[in-house]
Amino acid sequence: MDIHEYQAKELFRNAGIPVPPGEVAETADQAEEIASRFGGTVVVKAQVHTGGRGKAGGVKLASSAQEAREYAENILGMTIKDLTVKKVLVTPAEDIATEAYVGVLIDRATQRPMFMVSPEGGVDIEEVAATNPEAIRKLRIDPRYGLLPHQAYSLATFLYDDPAQIKQATRVMGQLYEAFTRNSCSLAEINPLIVTPAGDVKAIDAKVSIDESALFRLPEVADYRDLDAEPASETKAREAGLSFVKLDGDVGCCVNGAGLAMATMDLVKYYGGEPANFLDIGGSSNPDKVVSALEIITADPNVKAILFNIFGGITRCDDVANGIVEAARRIDIQPPIVIRLTGTNEEEALEILKEAGFSAFTSMDEVVEKAVELAAQA
Ligand code: GDP
Ligand code: MN
Repeated sequence: MDIHEYQAKELFRNAGIPVPPGEVAETADQAEEIASRFGGTVVVKAQVHTGGRGKAGGVKLASSAQEAREYAENILGMTIKDLTVKKVLVTPAEDIATEAYVGVLIDRATQRPMFMVSPEGGVDIEEVAATNPEAIRKLRIDPRYGLLPHQAYSLATFLYDDPAQIKQATRVMGQLYEAFTRNSCSLAEINPLIVTPAGDVKAIDAKVSIDESALFRLPEVADYRDLDAEPASETKAREAGLSFVKLDGDVGCCVNGAGLAMATMDLVKYYGGEPANFLDIGGSSNPDKVVSALEIITADPNVKAILFNIFGGITRCDDVANGIVEAARRIDIQPPIVIRLTGTNEEEALEILKEAGFSAFTSMDEVVEKAVELAAQA
């Protein structure tokens, strides 16, 4: 789950990281009022779940409350990478001497938290990785011991030469690791970590993603969820109890079981297609879930063909078949649907579908190839 910068900064503050104060505004009036209270130059920052806001015009320095109001007017309602800005953070501007990058993420290869730090902060870290990889230092952490003091120190010396800055940054490394583990993050990033002309090290941006599976034991973090800020399809899927991830292809997939869903996506690619989504309807056999799944898939204008791949165990094929028929009655489904069902109550299911005019198969290869072909023809 992605959270906003202002929320991520709250987690960082709780861990002791030096973060400038800030308040959130939903209107230009509020932004002006906050700016006049802070006084001096402030930064008005779009709160959306993406980086690169600066480049998109979503981060502006305002030298007066009046100017803060004007920037807030512009930024509120702006679209950044398909996301509409509904809130801005107003924060006192800092003078910047240097900008560094500090991030912790999960390294899948070693299954460990990994620090990535670079003295070339402020810009896209992907760009630094591509053009100047030696400017990035990576350090994998053994979770049994956590970040050891000498490791934190060594990361800090990669960023700074000045002993006072190294000392502050060493502390920040430990605090960031603490925030990362305490909140079950999959990513915790400070970009930029600045040094002010007076020599103070501060985090002026924060980006955090939380592991969804840990939210049940982190009620305060779970409250950070902003339904307004995530794609409508993902909200709807979660409410319906479906695991759904939107992708960029044109073959809509509806599968039961995460493993089968992954295998189905692999097979779509094998036959030359691109999946439009990952969707696991789970192990139950509630026809309503199938209706919700089809509503979500058909709401995506890129979908050119819909592929069902159901392996009936606890999930009963006839329930899925009834769900498909019910969905077709309730919503206008434009793309062709191809269906593969096998397992529990397969015969009943094939009968239900045939009666309703759907073509159904029992071979996985056959049905995936067909769906890819139909999507390509559309
Ligand atoms: P991002 O573009 O979404 O990563 O947003 P950031 O918060 O990182 O802001 C982008 C850039 O705006 C930073 O790299 C800074 O160069 C600049 N910026 C942000 N806050 C301040 C500030 O308080 N003072 C100054 N001088 N520049 C800032
Ligand atoms: Mn940033």
